[in-house]
Formats: sequence, C-alpha cells, structure tokens
Amino acid sequence: MKVLFVASECAPFVKTGGLADVVGAVPKALEPLGVDVRILLPAYPALADLLRRGETLLHLDDLFGGPARLVSVQSDGLNVILLDAPHLFDRAGGIYLDESGTDWHDNHLRFGALCTVATRIATGQLTSWKPDLVHAHDWQAGLVPLLIKLAGSDHKPPCVMTIHNIAFQGLFHWSTRELFAIPDEHFTHEGAEFYGHFGFLKAGLAYCDKITTVSPTYAQELLTPEFGMGLEGLMQARQQDLSGILNGIDLDIWNPKTDPALPAPYSVHNRRNKSRCRAALEQKFSLQNDAESPLFCVISRLTQQKGLDLLLEVLPALVERGGRLALLGSGEKQLEDGFLQAAQDHPGRVGTFIGYDEELSHLVQGGSDAIIIPSRFEPCGLTQLYGVRYGTLPVVARTGGLADTVVDATPDAIKEGRATGIQFSPIDAAGLNDALERTCALFERKRVWRSMMGNAMRYPVGWEQSAPEYHDLYLRTLSR
Ligand code: ADP
Repeated sequence: MKVLFVASECAPFVKTGGLADVVGAVPKALEPLGVDVRILLPAYPALADLLRRGETLLHLDDLFGGPARLVSVQSDGLNVILLDAPHLFDRAGGIYLDESGTDWHDNHLRFGALCTVATRIATGQLTSWKPDLVHAHDWQAGLVPLLIKLAGSDHKPPCVMTIHNIAFQGLFHWSTRELFAIPDEHFTHEGAEFYGHFGFLKAGLAYCDKITTVSPTYAQELLTPEFGMGLEGLMQARQQDLSGILNGIDLDIWNPKTDPALPAPYSVHNRRNKSRCRAALEQKFSLQNDAESPLFCVISRLTQQKGLDLLLEVLPALVERGGRLALLGSGEKQLEDGFLQAAQDHPGRVGTFIGYDEELSHLVQGGSDAIIIPSRFEPCGLTQLYGVRYGTLPVVARTGGLADTVVDATPDAIKEGRATGIQFSPIDAAGLNDALERTCALFERKRVWRSMMGNAMRYPVGWEQSAPEYHDLYLRTLSR
C-alpha cells in the first residue's frame, strides 16, 4: 500500500511541536506492515542539505508566482518529497511566522501551494509513484481532499485527515478560494466556509473520507462546544468517520539507554545514572544540588493552552514545599517574563531557559524527577510520554491524551503496581497545587516513587498498538 503524507513539519528535519514528531515516527512504524509512505514537505531553509542530496522528480514552471520542483530524498529512515518553491519557503524567519512573530502574510498561498502539489502527486502526476491513499495532517494540508475531488483525473485516492490540534484552523479571507479555483458551491456551512472565512481545516474535515485525531478522549472532546472550537457541529455530523488513535513516540530517538544528550545512560533495570543526569541538569539550570528535593520540569510552548499561568500562580507554594523547577520553553512574552522573574525570585530553586532546544529537552527529561503538564486542553501531548520513558513522572491535567496515557497514583493503582503519574482536575490553580502537593508527598515515600518509576518506564509508549490501527483504518478507507 502506498500512502502520501502531507504535512508542514517532520522530525528530525523541521519541528515546532508534536506534529513533527508524529509525522516523522508513523511512517517508520507502518513500514513493517507493508505501507510505503512518502512525506511531502515544504523545502524550508532548514532542509537545504536534504534538498542538495535529493533527486529532482518534476519541474513546475509556475506555482503561484514562481518556479518550483519536487525533489525526492531518503534520510533518517524516511522517504521525503520536498516541495522546492523558493518564493514561498526559502526565507529567514519561522516556518509559520515572520521575524516579527506574526503569521506570514501569504500562508494561504504557501500551504495552498503545498496542497495543490499534493493533489498533483495524489492524482498520478509522478509516473514513478502513485499513492493509493493520502493522509493529510492539520490545516496546512486541509485543502487536499477538496482539491482531489475537484481534480480532472481518473485516479482519485481517498483521504484520511488527522487533527493534531483543532485550535489551529487556517482561516483566511473568503476570496482565498478563488486562488485555488474552488467553486462557490463549496463555500457553504457544510463545506469550507467558517463564519464568513475560508477554512483550510474545515475544508479538510468536510471533504475527507475518514477523520482521526491523536487520542480517544480528544476524539470525544471534539464533539463538544468546550473543545470543538466552533467545529463541534461538523465533528458531530461526521462522528461515524471519526476515530482517536493514540500517539506513540520514537523509541530509538527517546531512549535513556542510548540517548547521546545524557551524560550517562540508564534504564529501567539500572537507574543509578539518572542522578548523574540530574546533576548535569542542576548545573545547566543553576539549581542547587539537593537529593531530597523533587526536581520538576516543564518542556513546552508557553501559551494559554498549556496552562502554565497556573503553574506561575502556584510556584511559590511549590518552592516553599521544597520543590525545584527547570523550565525550557518559549512563547507568549508574559509567560516568558513570568518564569524569568520566578528564576530571579527563587535562585537555585527555579531555573528558566527561554528558547527552543531539542538536545536540551532530552537532558531535561533525563535529569528531572517529574514533568508538569497543566494543559487546558491537550489533543495527545508527547512530553508526558517522553517523561514516562525516562522515569520522569508526569503530573498532568485530566484532559485529552493526558487522561489516556497517565495512570493516576490512586491508592489502588499504587497497590496494584499500575500508577505512572499524577492526574488532576478541575484544571485550575487549586487543582494543580493539590497535584503538586500529592507529588511531593509521593516523592518522600521512596519505595512507592521507585516502583512508580518502574511502572512508568515499562509502560508501552511506542507505536506497537497505534500503527496497526492506522493500517486498519487505511484498509477500511480503501475498501469503501
Ligand atoms: P504541542 O505539539 O502542542 O506543542 P506536544 O506535547 O504534542 O505539544 O509536543 C511538543 C514537542 O515539542 C515535544 O517533542 C517537546 O519535547 C517539544 N518542545 C516543546 N517546547 C520545546 C522547547 N522549548 N525546546 C525543545 N523542545 C520543545
């Protein structure tokens, strides 16, 4: 089975969040099941090396204002097709945001072009490789199902659309549809129209064959006004086609036994070196060395979604209780400033690193005792899965994939050897404060803590369950 992935990011090549990790991991997990995945990605400057090594498949004289080409390259166990369109993607700044931090003015064109090219591949323009099915990820790939429907071709493969976060919908001016020759009849409430705007994600969800999201709980939440972000009606209408397939992680990249970012390797059977990782982390974040104090961490985008304003509120109480915090993150200025200030207010107890640093994120996972994820909503969340793998117990809000992947340390779960972390709800400062208090109390019960670490490190967080679920879904989609 041949499947074309369409996405705006893919680890290890270009990443701003969990989408990249998943797009980079699923194809490898599907390969042993006989699925040949090619990933269509824009050739941002970060991919210049890959581009140089690749082989040109197709030239396009004019792709929305400039020449473009498709380049095929294999790297890191992945088959990638790069869309080299310098006028759209070869520019300094972020992949979605310009240097001032605002959305690129032409994002509709940039990702509309990605979808246009994906449609050409899907409908058979690369004679060397014709996909049986297209798997579109998030709004940046949202136009593909509709463009395939509109294409004048005999080969129209079905589409699966995955929602990694429904908060990002790709809403643009209504006239955007004219650029892609989308007839008015599709600019309706049942189609691509969203309160007078043209919605890329909405179009994808309206016209794809199957919809998935990244955890079973989030799939249910999407049906409600609280989480559906205005698309709950469409989600309800398509409930029969919606499923939640839990994200996994790449067990080779995230392995404390072989992780080159750690000063010393450890495993579930031999965890002594975790204290060496903790010492390295303490040094890096200018934290006091204190074996009796639990070292909490955060690795996150600093946004309203992630609930880190709640952590700022309860941080003085956590420090008072003896806890320490190492935070790695970037995002909203108010939160960045808040955590920088916290580090000044609590020298040696709170360390803040503002920025995005993949390698450092591994050390933070390896060196911490617990990871705090107080998200207001969380489609799946990956950092709790990395935490589990590294024996860094997650303290999580009970929502979305966090609810599905962490076994709360209730007395029963502790007794039965199932507990892997701490869950809390309601998701507010008092709820988080209680959870941190519970965590500190558990940390003092050394035997319990050690056994929870063992439960966590043995908990299955790879793709062994979810890859076959994608495969089954593809088969069902194809058989329709
Ligand atoms: P989201 O995709 O909503 O940002 P996820 O938990 O699904 O949240 O994925 C976030 C990914 O980004 C994880 O791989 C995490 O380790 C990584 N990450 C987030 N912030 C940083 C940072 N400042 N530095 C390095 N990695 C980060």
